[in-house]
Amino acid sequence: MKAMNSTAQNPIRRNSAIALLTLGLMACGQDAPVEDIYKSSLYVFGTKVEISVRGTDAATLTDATTRLESEFKRMHKDWHAWKPGELVDINQALAVGQSHSISPFVKPLIVRAKSLYELSDGLFNPAIGGLVGAWGFHADEKPQGHKPDLAAIRALTAKHPSMRDVHLEGDTISSTNPTVQFDFGGFAKGVALDRAEEVLKELGISQALINAGGDINTLGGGGAQPWQVGIRDPKAWGLIATLDLLPGENVYTSGNYERFREIDGVRYAHIIDPRTGMPVDHIVSATVIGDNGAIADGAATALSVAGPQDWHRIAKKMGIKFAVLVDDAGTVYINPAMKARIKFAPDFNFTIVESPPL
Ligand code: ADP
Ligand code: MG
Repeated sequence: MKAMNSTAQNPIRRNSAIALLTLGLMACGQDAPVEDIYKSSLYVFGTKVEISVRGTDAATLTDATTRLESEFKRMHKDWHAWKPGELVDINQALAVGQSHSISPFVKPLIVRAKSLYELSDGLFNPAIGGLVGAWGFHADEKPQGHKPDLAAIRALTAKHPSMRDVHLEGDTISSTNPTVQFDFGGFAKGVALDRAEEVLKELGISQALINAGGDINTLGGGGAQPWQVGIRDPKAWGLIATLDLLPGENVYTSGNYERFREIDGVRYAHIIDPRTGMPVDHIVSATVIGDNGAIADGAATALSVAGPQDWHRIAKKMGIKFAVLVDDAGTVYINPAMKARIKFAPDFNFTIVESPPL
């Protein structure tokens, strides 16, 4: 998913935005007066985070960006799955059967993760950090040259590390299964952008779009011109569709087209099916729209694992109202409410499989 309202200078009059189409900004063609949009960006979580605000001034955006940068940096450190920080300390303790103290900064993620685990029938399972690492994804660079140890992966999978093994008592965390290793990569961005919304609100900002590498939270609506985002063609540059977001909607995509590793010519995605220990191979991308970033992010990951056969059941169970999946055979799986609001690109030639309503 790609925000269309991005990558331009501040401020921009959105009425003249059509001329900036190549910069990624899109006008919707209405004549109503629109407010200036101010933009800033920062780098965190290995990605560029772009913040667009309306109905405020440049100084407020500067303040907001500074605050977000420091909050994001802390999240990046304390939620990191393999670099020194609180999560790594917790993982080390759990691996040797010890309990560990947990800060108010990390605890809500565990609580959230436990609930998303149950809602997704265990397909969203951030306790499988050991498997993610075993496949070589605990590295900043695209993993290469690393031969995964399939026997070790099978053995680890058989131990079923799961969020159910994790116990919280006050400020202490423990696990009854020493193979539990947390990796919040499947929903950390969602949690972070939900928090970012809170920060912006505290600063009096009421209209914003925060885009972290294609995962997007919005605060408020676009008034005459809604925030518009595009759904990327997973196999080629370009968009297969665009859609307008309603006030406060967030949109998350989980995909295996960007982060994968190749072994003997076969692509292995960074999304792992906890039931088999193997990377998912059927889905190219899953996009979810929801009111809560953490849930939408976790659901996009879970739907990627569920795949064409099972995504609808899992989406329903997770309370998702809008979802679209694209597979590598060029098939789009979509629920009717999502189909009703999506605008496919003119040269769109995918096969559409419409599900029953969610
Ligand atoms: P993206 O990073 O492309 O937005 P996701 O939101 O799906 O995609 O996050 C993928 C990350 O989630 C992986 O890199 C890994 O850290 C973690 N992960 C992989 N498989 C699972 C799973 N089954 N449940 C929860 N987290 C997972
Ligand atoms: Mg996700």
